[in-house]
Amino acid sequence: MTVEFKKIRNTASILNPMNAFQEDRQSTEIRFDPLTGVKRLFNAGLTEKAKMFYQPADENLIEMIVNKTKETCIFCPQNLEKVTPKFPPDILPEGRFRKGDSWVFPNLFQIYEVTAIGIIGKDHFLKTDEFSPEILKNCFSTIIDFLQAVHSRRPEYKYAIFGMNYLPPAASSQVHPHIQIYMSRDPFTYVDCMMRESNAYLERNAKNFWQDLIETEKKLGERYVGSTGNVEWMASFSPMANNEFIGILPEKSNYFEYNDKDLDGITEGLSKVFSFYKKDLRMGSFNYILYSGPLGEKSNSFRSSVRVATRPNFNGNYISDIHLAPLFYMEDWFANVPEYLAGRLRDYF
Ligand SMILES: [Zn+2]
Repeated sequence: MTVEFKKIRNTASILNPMNAFQEDRQSTEIRFDPLTGVKRLFNAGLTEKAKMFYQPADENLIEMIVNKTKETCIFCPQNLEKVTPKFPPDILPEGRFRKGDSWVFPNLFQIYEVTAIGIIGKDHFLKTDEFSPEILKNCFSTIIDFLQAVHSRRPEYKYAIFGMNYLPPAASSQVHPHIQIYMSRDPFTYVDCMMRESNAYLERNAKNFWQDLIETEKKLGERYVGSTGNVEWMASFSPMANNEFIGILPEKSNYFEYNDKDLDGITEGLSKVFSFYKKDLRMGSFNYILYSGPLGEKSNSFRSSVRVATRPNFNGNYISDIHLAPLFYMEDWFANVPEYLAGRLRDYF
């Protein structure tokens, strides 16, 4: 087996006050991502106990903000064309890109060569389980058409990435569902890392890492969840964030290779994951991202994928999950082990 799931098991003891200060030996586990080596830690004992620490979302607070921002929302149809920026003609002659109820226009503040916002639809707010595959598909296909329109004029902007922050704990300042879209001449750091490691794997093993990963996960059956059309879903062995799943397109390396069926698979899968987050985990805030290799360049080694994870529930005093470990020394640990998550998500597939 060439895909290696490296784990190190440790124990650590405390004298537990909840058990008359008897010794409590706890099992911990260090895991390394099979592609990038990203290190993550687990304590299996936390899986059920974590529920005690998760604070529920404050639905009244969310509703209050939704109602308060409805009239003045810059992304709602009554305001969008009056107040959102346009691209200069050399980037996009029409200024803003539109397909049905989905729009793409520039962010007021530019970070990359192109920093854009994609509006998912005309509804001012969608609950976690209201992102239907149809709504997502219309928006994603609009974004890819937009990327194609810009890329045809600026082929040097060959790196693109898009994804969503949902609610303030996931870093969204507007409740109106929208997507962050970036284009650059230079590869995005983690995508660059994945591309390099995918290439090294191909050279070492004369095989594609992503196809090997799917095959191995299917064989093991511990973290594999199922497929939606052309997309294969699994819980990440060594995740980057809480309750994380990845969906891999085994035959596609960049957005411009996606066909209709690929978009169906991505959006159906995401929609199922959101329902699972809401109904099973009772988590209501999330981030997701779609990774792409260089636009229009077929790769033998890299494959496009989706990554989705939860963020803390939104309430008056929620606790951020970005603590000093991920912030300052790039390690992290999570309560729910991937094998537990995959087992629960399978019911939704
Ligand atoms: Zn709105």
